[in-house]
Amino acid sequence: MTQWYTGNITRIEDSSPTTKRFWLEVEGVDRFDFKAGQFITMDLPIGERRNQRWRSYSIASSPDSTNLLELCIVHLDGGLASGWLFNEAKIGTSIKFKGPDGTFTLPETIENELVLICTGTGVAPFRSMIWDVFNKKIPTRGIHLIFGTRTSDGILYQKEFEELTQEMPGFRYSVALSREGNERCHHGYVHDIYLKNYEGKRPDVTFYLCGWTKMVDEAVANLIVKMGYERGQVKYELYG
Ligand SMILES: Cc1cc2nc3c(=O)[nH]c(=O)nc-3n(C[C@H](O)[C@H](O)[C@H](O)COP(=O)(O)OP(=O)(O)OC[C@H]3O[C@@H](n4cnc5c(N)ncnc54)[C@H](O)[C@@H]3O)c2cc1C
Repeated sequence: MTQWYTGNITRIEDSSPTTKRFWLEVEGVDRFDFKAGQFITMDLPIGERRNQRWRSYSIASSPDSTNLLELCIVHLDGGLASGWLFNEAKIGTSIKFKGPDGTFTLPETIENELVLICTGTGVAPFRSMIWDVFNKKIPTRGIHLIFGTRTSDGILYQKEFEELTQEMPGFRYSVALSREGNERCHHGYVHDIYLKNYEGKRPDVTFYLCGWTKMVDEAVANLIVKMGYERGQVKYELYG
């Protein structure tokens, strides 16, 4: 049976000009268990009917045996839920939500190199997975995070991922900026990076894609049709 919870907002921080980090403390439990990569679904006061009010958000923090969750949310122009969260929600606001849900998670034993490809807030489940692997010292064959956005002020969690490249053996971090060039970031799209780095079909890589339909559709087509990867080597979570 679906379990509903109440989450109270304890902190809100700007992450980019259009993105905020929200921290929710789950009422009535000491710990909120979830798997890295899963999402929650909020019931927000933005419509009469249930299907108008429900929006899902990936958990951006890693499972840490507490009742605190972090979300990373972008404000879409004219977006009802993101508009409400940015303009109405405040510290102390209570939000009804259900979850955790979703199968966009890592396997118990990680046998392949992981290539995590995202744009914007699609980084949220990957942040959870990467910190989970790091905190639990889960053995991997390497993790490559490929993050894309338009300009450098849209890069999310940049400092912590850059620091993690020093602390986590086998962790690589690439940033693609579609509208800006600089010496640390690729000028172009996320697609350019995996097309170049993973050409020549390899059996020991699994690709995880997360974000909006356009990027995910293009990446699935590139990886499977153009590059010849097996369907089972490409997993994705669509935001809409
Ligand atoms: C599993 C899952 C996980 C997700 N995780 C995240 C996450 O971690 N972070 C995140 O930011 N998002 C995430 N999403 C997306 C999120 O659920 C919402 O879809 C997103 O916040 C947009 O909701 P909204 O109500 O603001 O926009 P909506 O009101 O649903 O609008 C959607 C689009 O339509 C346009 N639109 C709306 N109203 C109008 C209008 N009147 N005229 C013209 N255009 C209009 C908006 O500009 C927007 O582009 C996730 C989605 C899924 C399915």
